[in-house]
Amino acid sequence: MGELSRHLLYKARWHGVEVRVANRFFPSSKTCSGRGEIRNDLDLSTRTYVCGACGLVIDRDVNAAINLARWRPEEPSAVALLALTPALLLSTA
Ligand SMILES: [Zn+2]
Repeated sequence: MGELSRHLLYKARWHGVEVRVANRFFPSSKTCSGRGEIRNDLDLSTRTYVCGACGLVIDRDVNAAINLARWRPEEPSAVALLALTPALLLSTA
C-alpha cells in the first residue's frame, strides 16, 4: 500500500468515512449511471458521457463518481481507493 493510500485510510478513519477498494479495471467512466450500459469507445479526451441507449448526458467524472458510489466490493484484491464522502472522493482507476 502506497503513501497516498495510507494517508487516505488514516483520514477516512479519522472522519468516520467508509473506504472501499475497487478493481483498477472497473469501468466507472464507461458505464452509464442511468441504466448500466457500457461504452467501450469512450476515450480519455471525451469529458461528457452521452449514452446512446437511454440518452443520459452527464459530466464524465460525475458519471464515474455515481458508479463508484454505487459499487459494492466483490473482489478484495484491488488497487483503487474510494472514500465515500464528497470531500474525499478519490479513485486512482
Ligand atoms: Zn444509459
